[in-house]
Amino acid sequence: MTQILDGKTLSLQIKDEIANEVRKITANGGRPPHLAAILVGEDGASQTYVANKEKSSHEVGFMSSVYRLPENISEEEVLKVIDFLNNDEEVDGFIVQLPLPKHIDEQKVINAISPNKDVDGFTPINIGNMVLGQEAFIPATPKGICTLLQRNGIETEGMHCVVVGRSNIVGTPAANLMSRKAFNCTVTMCHSRTRNLAEITRQADILVVAIGKPEFITADMVKDGVVLVDVGIHRIPDSTKKSGYHLCGDVKHSEVDSKCSWVTPVPGGVGPLTIVSLLQNTLQAYKANNTVRG
Ligand code: NDP
Repeated sequence: MTQILDGKTLSLQIKDEIANEVRKITANGGRPPHLAAILVGEDGASQTYVANKEKSSHEVGFMSSVYRLPENISEEEVLKVIDFLNNDEEVDGFIVQLPLPKHIDEQKVINAISPNKDVDGFTPINIGNMVLGQEAFIPATPKGICTLLQRNGIETEGMHCVVVGRSNIVGTPAANLMSRKAFNCTVTMCHSRTRNLAEITRQADILVVAIGKPEFITADMVKDGVVLVDVGIHRIPDSTKKSGYHLCGDVKHSEVDSKCSWVTPVPGGVGPLTIVSLLQNTLQAYKANNTVRG
């Protein structure tokens, strides 16, 4: 029987846990944790993501602020805002919503974020610490995947985990984390140049899919009993919906789900855990920030 890796319900539980911690902090006279976001331009999806992060921050009692910058802003001006946030003692962590407009060097911007406030976990210092198994901010989506597996008691030890996708924000960190002692998986990472992809995905006990192609993974590409994590999220134009679109993942769930022992729905799987992971990272930054200051 297929069981659901229900990210929505789990995210509400974890938000409750975070909100309880925040209540304790403020009851003891502390200020609440503060998450800031930099949003450049008018991209619809980015605006939705930032609005969701802001809403979730408020739900758990965090302070939140959004720096909305125009599409044509110079790289130098963005770097100035980052410098300001790096030095603002009232901000514990901040994110720069990606993608940035083409005239801005994304890596340069990420590199300018103080590792202590890099709650997205994208700076080289945090990625390096993560790979070394040292204290780090773990990128939100892979951290969310780990939480989903752990909190649902999924057996991972010695399992073959196949990760499809090698982006810096999802596939690469997910593959690294699944190979570490907390999970003890044997990991294979696939990408667009992988030969005989289906042959490899069919060997997966745990299949993590982060390709960015709607319904790419079909029933013939998975084995019976697989634990399947679909990271993909796509808006597909749909005139039958009031919104004008429906959502789908990188997996063709209509034909694949019945083969899975566990599967993430889209929406309601990895997405809600991604936001919750960002909140967890902000709380972690807050605690470190306040310990340092005594
Ligand atoms: P990227 O486009 O950055 O990376 C996609 C990866 O998939 C690349 O490594 C690419 O390989 C690989 N790939 C593309 N085509 C194939 C193929 N035919 N066979 C095998 N591998 C292939 O995407 P992201 O990692 O940023 O995101 C992946 C998906 O997850 C997207 O749908 C995105 O919207 C979603 N997402 C969802 C989040 C959530 O919270 N739910 C958060 C972040 C992303 P190569 O490196 O060779 O080009």
